Order: sequence, then C-alpha cells, then structure tokens
Amino acid sequence: MQIKSTPLRVQETAGGQALSLGTAAASKLSRLIGYQTVSSRDPHQVRLEEFDGFISALPELFPLVHEKLSLERVNAHGLLYRWQGSGTDDVGGPLVLMAHYDVVPVQDPASWTHPPFSGEIADGRIWGRGALDDKGSLTAILEAAEQLLAAGFAPSRDVYLSFGNNEETAGDTAEAAAALLESRGIRPWLVLDEGGAVAGQAFPFVDRPVAVVGVSEKGILDVELSTEDAGGHASTPHRRGATARLARAITRVDARPLPAVLPEPTVEMIGRLAPSARFPGRLVFGNLRIFRRPLTRVLARMGGEPGALTRTTVAITQLQGSSASNVIASRATANANIRVAVGESVAGTVQRLRRIIADPSVSLRVVEGNEPAPVSATDNAQFALLEQTIADVFPDAVTAPYIMLGGTDSRRFTGICDAVYRFVPFRMSRQDRASIHADNESLNIETFGEGILFYARLLRGPGAGQ
Ligand SMILES: [Zn+2]
Repeated sequence: MQIKSTPLRVQETAGGQALSLGTAAASKLSRLIGYQTVSSRDPHQVRLEEFDGFISALPELFPLVHEKLSLERVNAHGLLYRWQGSGTDDVGGPLVLMAHYDVVPVQDPASWTHPPFSGEIADGRIWGRGALDDKGSLTAILEAAEQLLAAGFAPSRDVYLSFGNNEETAGDTAEAAAALLESRGIRPWLVLDEGGAVAGQAFPFVDRPVAVVGVSEKGILDVELSTEDAGGHASTPHRRGATARLARAITRVDARPLPAVLPEPTVEMIGRLAPSARFPGRLVFGNLRIFRRPLTRVLARMGGEPGALTRTTVAITQLQGSSASNVIASRATANANIRVAVGESVAGTVQRLRRIIADPSVSLRVVEGNEPAPVSATDNAQFALLEQTIADVFPDAVTAPYIMLGGTDSRRFTGICDAVYRFVPFRMSRQDRASIHADNESLNIETFGEGILFYARLLRGPGAGQ
C-alpha cells in the first residue's frame, strides 16, 4: 500500500502546485489578453496604443523581472530581456525563450461565449484571443522568472526572453532580435519558441498525450502563376485565352501532388509513439523498416494534416482575371501558397511545378519564399533537457519530435543556433487546438500552471526538484 500511495501523493502535489500557480497568475494573463494587440500587414490597421498599453502593463505585473533583468526594445515593439547568469556553468551560450504577444483578428465577436478581449475567468479557464497563441506562454515565462527571482534564484547561464510583436504577419522583429544577438557575438545554446504542445487525441492508436516538440518547419512559398492574352470584348472570344490556360495549369497542379516521402524526424516521431500505441498502430509504428512505404502512401492519400506530413503541399489561394464582366482578361493570375517539405527546396519546387504545368505560356514568379528550417537534433543535451523537463511536469506524456506545418518566429534564430525547438508546455485537446485562430480560445487554469512549472524547471535545470 505504501509503495502504491507514494507516487499518487506526488502526483497530487504536482497537480495542486500547478493549480495554485495557475490561479495566482490567471489575473495577469487575463489583463494582458485585454490589450487588443492585433497585428496586420497594413500599418494603418495596427493600433499602436494597444501594443504600448501591453508593454507598460508588464512592469506592474512582473516587478522583480523588471527590477533584475535588463530590457531593450527591438523594432520599437519587440522586447528583449536579458537575465544575466552567474557564470558558474556558462557552457555553450545562453538560453533563449521566445513568445509573441500579437494576435490574429477576431472574425465575429458574437460567436464567442466570452467576449474575445475580456480575459474573463470562468469555468476554470481564462478566455480570450491569445490565451493559447501566444500570450499564455509569454505570461507563463514571465511568471516562472518572477517566481524564481522571488526565491532568490540566479540562472547559471544567461537567459534571454525574446517577445515578438508581429509573428502573425511574419514580421521582422524576431529577425532583428536574432541580428542583434549575432552582432554581439552571441550564439544561443538553446532556443525554445511556440509550436508543439502536450497534445491529446492527436494520433490514431495512441491514448497517451504526446508532447510534440517541433525540430523543424516547412518552408513557406508564394508563387504567382500568370498568363497573358490580347484581351478584347467578351462577345468575340478565342479558345485557349489567358483564363482557360491558367485554369488548365491549376487543374494539372491539383491532379499531380508532389511526391510523398516521410522525412526522418517524422519517422523518429512515429517510432517513439510505437511503445504507447494500440494494435495495429503498435505493429506498424514499431516496424517502419517494413511499413514505411505503405504508411507513407496511406497518410498521403488521407490528405489534410496527415497528407501534409508527407509532402510539399500546394494550395491555390487567389485568382484574378479581368476587371469587368464583359472584358476578356489580358492577364490572369493565380497565387499558389506552397509549404515546402523538409529535404526539398524553393528552387526545386518551382522547377517541379513548371514540369507539371508543362505550358511555357504560363509564367511562374516567386513572390516570397522561405526554405524549410534546418532540422534540430534529438540526440543532444538540449533535447535531453527538454525531454527530462517534460517527463517531470507531464509524466503521462510521450515526447516526440515533429516537423511543424506552419511557421514560427524561431526560424529567424536558426542562423545563430543549431538547437532551435518549438514547444508550448500546455496540454491541448483537439478542441483547444481547433480554437487557435478561431472562436472561443481559452486556457485551462491548471494547464496554465503546468506551463509555469515547466518554464521554472527548465530555467533551474535538471534535477532541481520542485
Ligand atoms: Zn503563435
């Protein structure tokens, strides 16, 4: 009995601690959600007073952080804190924790149960835009630092907190922060940004939650397809005009998806899930030498998220023809939004598209392109530290690397650090994940507390205990 009851009590203590930490900091997150820090590519749409308000609330909420850490502004509204290390264990550079406080717009406030910028605390949750993406994580980082400072803790290595104001619009603040560190000769030992989470119901045949840690990101590429024609009056059309040739090009792209391959980190992810998987998942995941090809084909055929794991994806997002209903288009364009798979390149993808379209009268122009991020290792001390910290705070979870389908600010740091990971230490159900960038975004208070605990443990290092 004694043996059985001890771990239970430990569990209860950790859970109780998370709940009390979350409860104590809930009003801080609530207040920060109240600032409508909606980012936009159009500078006139950005309400700078909301960003200024957010920044000026921080010293009041986290007084010790603002007393003990230095803070500099990056690109006016980016924040870079430096927590100087004691230097006792300063091997391999500082630890960088990243987050962003800009949020995406709200489509229809009426469809929210609690108003999106109210930060209401109800039903054990903190409600509002940014609760999960990414003010929750930013607040948890600051709260962890505040708690550690109150306990008289000093990190052994330097710690930087880099908070962005334009992640949602792929803005340049993170790039500027990385450039600033580089100009000072700083190469971080570890960079941790948003990305994966402790995901429930994420994989078929796996009942345990999976802590997915992003080790890379697909590249993002916009290609404009365009065709030209003489134009003229719509009453006297010719065959194979600009719009018809563009449409043919689009249907060819749609009919011929790019080749499906399971990249190495995905293979490792599946292998790590095998011991926790039910039949037949356990059999397939545990024997990828045999099942790699058939599994790739199955995932690719499923399309959607499983399909996106296996290949470079192409979505035609914008179409344009002539400007009037009775005028033949002299120029027709389509935008292809492409997510470039790890192991492939922007130039290689454009070349493949040209071959698939097989029509020299269709021009392809790269509007904007980012290569896939380099893959961070899973056999180094940095990943081991993340894995250990996850095991301490989320003992029921399996840790697995994965490739992110979307982009984060952390890609800007891959030039100055080899160990860049993407993970938010919050449990997220399928429903939670669906609320990101959608309606009714909210964060469970105990989950928030676990996140604070995670960052505190990460900052204290392994074996630090509670
Ligand atoms: Zn985000």
